[in-house]
Amino acid sequence: MVDLKGQYIKIKSEIDSAISKVIDEAKFIKGPQVKSFNNSLADYLKVKHVISCGNGTDALQLALMALELKPGDEVITTPFTFIATAEVIALLNLKPVFADVLPDTFNIDPDKIESLITAKTRAIIPVHLFGQAADMQKIMNIAERNNLFVIEDTAQALGADIYDVNGDYKKAGTIGDIGCTSFFPSKNLGAFGDGGAVFTNNDVLAERLTSLSNHGMEVRYFHDRVGINSRLDTIQAAILEVKLKYLNQYCKDRQKAAKFYNEGFAKTTQIKTPVKAPFTSHVYHQYTILLEGIDREGLMDFLTSKGIASAIYYPVPIHLQKAYRMLGYNKGDFPVAETLSRNVLSLPIHTELTEEIQQFIIENILDFING
Ligand SMILES: *Cc1c(COP(=O)(O)O)cnc(C)c1O
Repeated sequence: MVDLKGQYIKIKSEIDSAISKVIDEAKFIKGPQVKSFNNSLADYLKVKHVISCGNGTDALQLALMALELKPGDEVITTPFTFIATAEVIALLNLKPVFADVLPDTFNIDPDKIESLITAKTRAIIPVHLFGQAADMQKIMNIAERNNLFVIEDTAQALGADIYDVNGDYKKAGTIGDIGCTSFFPSKNLGAFGDGGAVFTNNDVLAERLTSLSNHGMEVRYFHDRVGINSRLDTIQAAILEVKLKYLNQYCKDRQKAAKFYNEGFAKTTQIKTPVKAPFTSHVYHQYTILLEGIDREGLMDFLTSKGIASAIYYPVPIHLQKAYRMLGYNKGDFPVAETLSRNVLSLPIHTELTEEIQQFIIENILDFING
């Protein structure tokens, strides 16, 4: 699905010298590269504070902890996402409340949110799924009307732009109260291991997030709140600082690959190519098609036999996952998410994909469909 080695080879000397420098200096935790990367990412995102942490799941957990919610408080999110989004809500003894997604963009349907708001609702977590932003304007309006926090899960959309009515843009993750991202190796900005970050324009939240990620400590060995240990390793920060310079190019490469697929599948009505909403750019963390009347397992087996990778993100929506039965949801509660789970298929998309490889993938898929 990705070619991390190919991506590394192109910038090998830069990466290797950044890693060597960290090893020479031996400041493996909280080395100067961490602060430097935080600042570089803040500049890139045009956001006031970036606090890096151990991974994207921790980022979401820290964001929720910083809001100082009470057990039983409700957080509205999407059932069609990676498990981490709902997992951290449940882990903190908060209640995940799901709103179904839109059938075209796969992102949370803002029109389904308001009717779910109760006296206990405190926050909304939109996920910018597969690389394009959820409808932040509508979501922020709902949040403002109902006095709710908004945490953006931008693990899959780092670098995406969200346009406003004047044609100006903000980076995905910088509109809500807190943005969260992941530097898991296959993410658009990937480390050589785990990593994550939270970002905010709010000084009070930034201070809390910093303290929470470091054992609730502001002055050394004085603990003001119950925190966690979640830090970005210095080596990862050094690698990410190098790779951040290429993020815009990486996004462009993915967009180009997506366009090539779109054109390749234009003639078949049995494949719905990704739909991009007008208010956001799409950085194609995944290139996910919707199959109509095609045997998905059969197609995947056929592709495997040709040496072509494919994957299902996500085969079971969260409300139907075993671990989340305690929420009391049933089959049929979120028909759009359930239909998507049955019909989506993600194809290889990454920065090293050539048109020859893509043509091979397209031709094989069309061969399968046309028998
Ligand atoms: C990857 C991902 C996360 C979690 O990130 P990790 O770094 O793997 O913990 C959270 N939410 C979404 C939508 C993701 O894709």
